[in-house]
Amino acid sequence: MTSSGNRVVTFMGPMKMELQTFDFPKLITPTGKKANHGAILKIVTTNICGSDQHIYHGRFAAPKGMVMGHEMTGEVIEVGPDVEFIKKGDICSVPFNVSCGRCRNCKERHTDVCMNVNDEVDCGAYGFNLGGWQGGQSDYLMVPYADWNLLRFPDKDQAMEKMRDLTLLSDILPTASMV
Ligand SMILES: [Zn+2]
Ligand SMILES: [Zn+2]
Repeated sequence: MTSSGNRVVTFMGPMKMELQTFDFPKLITPTGKKANHGAILKIVTTNICGSDQHIYHGRFAAPKGMVMGHEMTGEVIEVGPDVEFIKKGDICSVPFNVSCGRCRNCKERHTDVCMNVNDEVDCGAYGFNLGGWQGGQSDYLMVPYADWNLLRFPDKDQAMEKMRDLTLLSDILPTASMV
């Protein structure tokens, strides 16, 4: 695998998913703004969530070509010039809501209704029809406001050693027991 391509799982219609190759992500938001506050992750692990199944079955509307996935962990391979605390090589978990950390709602810890990450409605998320943020069922992902959005594992080796357990416990096991 080279860093020039980005293999992604795309929604092409109900019960129709396709593996496609996109360009390597840039530090640019879906509306074309510079995201110097962002970071690029190489995805280490990602889940298929119950919500993905709703999209797959056509119960949640999604645009054709949307990249799936909103539960992912990755290694930081690039940081924008405004990122201060997250560093290259960090292993980070990515919360599924995209949020800025700067608006009133974020400051009141309601990151699910961030006012700055979706022009249509006060809510953004990866891999949903919510602001056009690329999903994490991919080789690489751009995460905006990286200092705010990324949760770094304190011990990289320990995290990597237990990665599959962490992935399983974060969603797959609870979803499987629910479905
Ligand atoms: Zn989910
Ligand atoms: Zn916000």
